[in-house]
Amino acid sequence: MNVRQALVYASQWVDKLDAELLLGHCLRVARPHVYAWPEQLLTPLQQQQFIDLFEQRQAGKPVAYLTGCKEFWSLSLQVDEHTLIPRPDTESIVELALRKLPRTVQTIVDLGTGSGAIALALAFECRLWSIFATDLHLATLQRAKANAQRLGLNQVQFVAGDWLTALNYLQADAIIANPPYIAADDVHLAALCYEPQAALVAADQGLADLFTLIEQAKMQLKQGGFLLLEHGFDQSASVQAKMRQAGYQSIETCYDLTGHARGSFARYMR
Ligand code: GLN
Repeated sequence: MNVRQALVYASQWVDKLDAELLLGHCLRVARPHVYAWPEQLLTPLQQQQFIDLFEQRQAGKPVAYLTGCKEFWSLSLQVDEHTLIPRPDTESIVELALRKLPRTVQTIVDLGTGSGAIALALAFECRLWSIFATDLHLATLQRAKANAQRLGLNQVQFVAGDWLTALNYLQADAIIANPPYIAADDVHLAALCYEPQAALVAADQGLADLFTLIEQAKMQLKQGGFLLLEHGFDQSASVQAKMRQAGYQSIETCYDLTGHARGSFARYMR
């Protein structure tokens, strides 16, 4: 089987982009290579691996878990079943943080970092920022740490723990998080069954962790420090009402590329 035949075959059943990514992974080449060298023959081992991955993809496993990596903010992040797959939606959160944060020495916290996506994108953009990334799960934190090391983003420190309790005495200029925010009975969860449910599902219609973070962040934000939370497209009214009630000011909505509300920003003044 050559590269072209493999692609034609696989594209009948799975998304063409997915087929290209899986084939590139098996051949250990970047995606454009599969078009530049359509006549290249797959070795028996490559062919076997491609068919194996292709079948798993057909069964619904996300490509990122099959190839072990996902692009986020132009960084190639390694992911596994302990990490949520970073979404383009979260890049809008990074963009807003970059618009708001001064490029001076700042202490920034990314809570529930997963693969490290938010923390590492911010670290990549400004070497002056001192960034703390937390996660409750050690296996997840190891993955994020390994991503930081591979990318040479050494100004990120990784701390295990439950939301802000991981960073007891720290006073931050900014606290950012993409917490779980999907309601346990949401029909979309069926399609997300390969990802860690703890990173996706929260109690109280998906609002429980968002509300906990709004309360906890008050103790650990410097005067005027900011909180930026990713949430579901239909949760901004609840999140912003909670922010207002907790005493935050300058509340703004963050929109994703499709124009949906995807996050809320606020400042805390004592
Ligand atoms: N944005 C993800 C999704 O809808 C959910 C991420 C999260 O719960 N933090 O698939």
